[in-house]
Amino acid sequence: MTFIKEILTELEKLAPLPYQEDYDNAGLLVGAPDTEVTGILFTLDITEDIVDEAIRRQCNLIVAHHPIIFKGLKKLNGKNYVERTVIKAIKNDIALYATHTNLDHVKGGVNWQIAKRLGLQNIKVLAPKRQILSKLAFFCPVENTQEVLQALFEAGAGQIGEYSNCSFRNEGQGTFLPSENANPVIGDRGELETVKEHRVEVMLPSHLQGQVLSALKRSHPYEEVAYYISALENENQEVGAGAIGELPEGMGSTDFLNHLKNSMRASVIKHTEPTGEAIRRVAVCGGAGSFLLRNAISAGADAFITADYKYHEFFDAEKRIMICDIGHYESEVFTKNLLHDYISGKFSNFALCLSEISTNPVRYFS
Ligand SMILES: [Zn+2]
Repeated sequence: MTFIKEILTELEKLAPLPYQEDYDNAGLLVGAPDTEVTGILFTLDITEDIVDEAIRRQCNLIVAHHPIIFKGLKKLNGKNYVERTVIKAIKNDIALYATHTNLDHVKGGVNWQIAKRLGLQNIKVLAPKRQILSKLAFFCPVENTQEVLQALFEAGAGQIGEYSNCSFRNEGQGTFLPSENANPVIGDRGELETVKEHRVEVMLPSHLQGQVLSALKRSHPYEEVAYYISALENENQEVGAGAIGELPEGMGSTDFLNHLKNSMRASVIKHTEPTGEAIRRVAVCGGAGSFLLRNAISAGADAFITADYKYHEFFDAEKRIMICDIGHYESEVFTKNLLHDYISGKFSNFALCLSEISTNPVRYFS
């Protein structure tokens, strides 16, 4: 038996909800976490047709990229497709979950999927986020340091890029005077004690602060643990908008546009004038990414692949970069494959279905 909350836990390991933008509404939109899963349908968007597909394929959980409930829903009387879709899902006991800008912001997320389809190598986050890391410093008897650190690493501290178990320690003397009501592990009530201690520092994602501090308190021998936690200004190079990588070899603009069209199955690409240089470094951002143009240029990208570009924004390329708008749906539709493949590796006791319906509301006439 698998419950919805177990699926959500796995999805949120890939794309933690605190990484979503403030305006977003990712998470469990409809349904109860302690419901047993009968099957999961993966899709880019949730529409009434998608809910019908879930019913037909006996899936009681729909995992999507775009949250069907995005703005406040004040009435539910079926006057538009959002309300009708939500009503249909509730009536049929189908849970709705969206992993949106949080999935845009992680390694292995939406932009990694685009980069991989294009065959980019050496993929990195284009605009790393700040103010999402903290530092924990704590004091510990030297003989207990390793055990406490191990508990902190298991709770998610000490990861920097491809390096885990990162910490720093130095040795010194800690002092304390236990009161008459204290229960000291070392020393006696009412007597000043001096202990050989380590001062240890580790970094952690700020959203894991609760679980890291409980691991500290659980594993530390002292009745009262001395620690400081502080917010850092550092960029988190693992988390942020867009991605950038390199093609194995430079390509002429026509070859590149053909490659882009084929690998993303785009029927049309709106692009700016080629710069005349070969295209090797490529920046990508699924969905509306014009806000990242400056990052793409300063990272030395020859082309920027995104969607939802407005007419006047195309002028900003100024022949320094080729902007390629492949369409919002086309840039993100393979997100359903990414989510399907990710969950397939972890659960196999119920159906995991890729939606067969195109939810693209845009048609091209040529
Ligand atoms: Zn989107």
